[in-house]
Amino acid sequence: MDHAPFLCRSAGVSYRLTFWGTRGSIPTPGPQTARYGGNTACISITHGDGRLTILDAGSGLRPLGHELMTRPGRTLTADVLLSHTHWDHIQGLPFFKPLSARGNRFCVYGAAQEGVPLEEILRRQMDPMVFPVPLEALAARIEVREIVEGDVPLGELRVRAFRLRHPGTTLGYRLGPPGGGRDIAYLTDNELGPGGTYPVSEDWRARLVQFLAGTDTLIHDAMYSDQFIQQRAGWGHSTPRQAVGLAAAAGCARLMLFHHEPEHDDVTMDHLLADAREYARGVAPGLVVEAAMEGSGFSL
Ligand SMILES: [Zn+2]
Ligand SMILES: [Zn+2]
Repeated sequence: MDHAPFLCRSAGVSYRLTFWGTRGSIPTPGPQTARYGGNTACISITHGDGRLTILDAGSGLRPLGHELMTRPGRTLTADVLLSHTHWDHIQGLPFFKPLSARGNRFCVYGAAQEGVPLEEILRRQMDPMVFPVPLEALAARIEVREIVEGDVPLGELRVRAFRLRHPGTTLGYRLGPPGGGRDIAYLTDNELGPGGTYPVSEDWRARLVQFLAGTDTLIHDAMYSDQFIQQRAGWGHSTPRQAVGLAAAAGCARLMLFHHEPEHDDVTMDHLLADAREYARGVAPGLVVEAAMEGSGFSL
């Protein structure tokens, strides 16, 4: 795992991917999780032309905000794609400093939940009952757009959304440079095993493999160990081996394990990664398997 930025080039524009939060469910700061990271889900894709795409707004959004605020005199335009609105995917928003700066513009994309509009859900997270600053008090211009499975009209990147097997309406994303090039897919909070009942079609798995076909790098939920997955059937998550199986079926070149279980310290993560690599040697020779580390990225 190198710590150089993710770079791919399309029509002269470079794209750089960085992991700001890799943990699932709840932040887990401390020396035991320092290498793989304790912040919850957040990934940035910076475009060479100055634009920015953010995947999920977990607590990793806070350090990303600090980094962006070190660029004085520049206003910021960014798209934020939410997988869903569980805490660990939106809890960084109230602490994202660029939202307090006049002139900045954000467009937040995601699905409504159980008939509740996305904007309403984001407002409730900042209701005076639980947070001192309401959403409308922020100085930046914030637009909220609801999306469903299918093409996402982002403009700067080709983006497609796919409904995942997870409680609520959860979307995975496939993103690529507009002029063609190598795609990445971001599928967090997704149950690849048989557990749970979700409103997806019977051919969901086959459609998912088709959705991912030709993707270079798959970032996928790998929260539970093989020993623990039975007890967590229906919770909407997967194991590293299940993620390897999907990457192999879709013919991906690289798999990044993501949404690390809060109970898994760095040593446990090392073991899970070693096991996933061993398993991949048997079912997907040539597949590169990594576990996402906070602060890192990689180059294509
Ligand atoms: Zn989650
Ligand atoms: Zn979730």
